[in-house]
Amino acid sequence: MNFKKITLYKEPALPEIDIKRLTDFLEENFPFKIEIKDNIFKELNIENINKLSKSRVTDIKNSFSVYKTSDIEFEFEKKLCQDSSLMNSTTKVEDAQEISQVFMYDGFELQKIFRYLNENDETLHIILTNRLTCTFDEKDERYHARAVICANPAIISTTGIIEAPAKPKEYYFEVMALKAQGLDKKSAKEKYKEQFLDYNDERLTKVVEGYILQVIFYNITGESFCEDIECRLNNAHWQKDLLFSQLEISKLCQKHNEILSNLN
Ligand SMILES: [Zn+2]
Repeated sequence: MNFKKITLYKEPALPEIDIKRLTDFLEENFPFKIEIKDNIFKELNIENINKLSKSRVTDIKNSFSVYKTSDIEFEFEKKLCQDSSLMNSTTKVEDAQEISQVFMYDGFELQKIFRYLNENDETLHIILTNRLTCTFDEKDERYHARAVICANPAIISTTGIIEAPAKPKEYYFEVMALKAQGLDKKSAKEKYKEQFLDYNDERLTKVVEGYILQVIFYNITGESFCEDIECRLNNAHWQKDLLFSQLEISKLCQKHNEILSNLN
């Protein structure tokens, strides 16, 4: 670990993420200088927007290949960079007939685009975005949605936080049953709302704190995630585990707490 400063890039399309609270949280817990910057996608030049649009993933069963962007898609990507709230007009995972309709980006390709930020190793760059990041898993040979790409620059995908850890199985069954009857999924969402995060969820700031911790600890220790579910560095595969570690427990395990104490 060499960094002395953290630069956090905002995602303005999500007003429920309280940047002031995140800044206070970081300043209270770490000896680093904290800098907040505007949405990084607004800064991208044409060449990088081009790379960005080519990093989209539409085929989840094959490893990354450069996406062939149409002119219309490139123009839309340009607009998305200026106004990330346009992402709300794209198809959400839960509404998609086919997963290829969803805007997804290869997380490592995305990270490569932002490597230009690393002028020196004194700053850890953390990018918040509503773009859905995913990475290809060689083991089961398919792409999976990811909430966080832990490196420097690191990317935290707010859509990934909502979509990557799974919701309760019962919820999916109820939604399927409702759909089969031509009914809306609203009643199922209401019934299970305590068990998963939804879009525009007020609990998101607290959960983002946990993912920022994961990024910082990864860059300090070189180890990703903690096995202990009672630690905020736990890599949750289920929404209920995510809410448990981040909201109910809301602290680090003893081992990681000691590492934090030694920093200060
Ligand atoms: Zn831990």
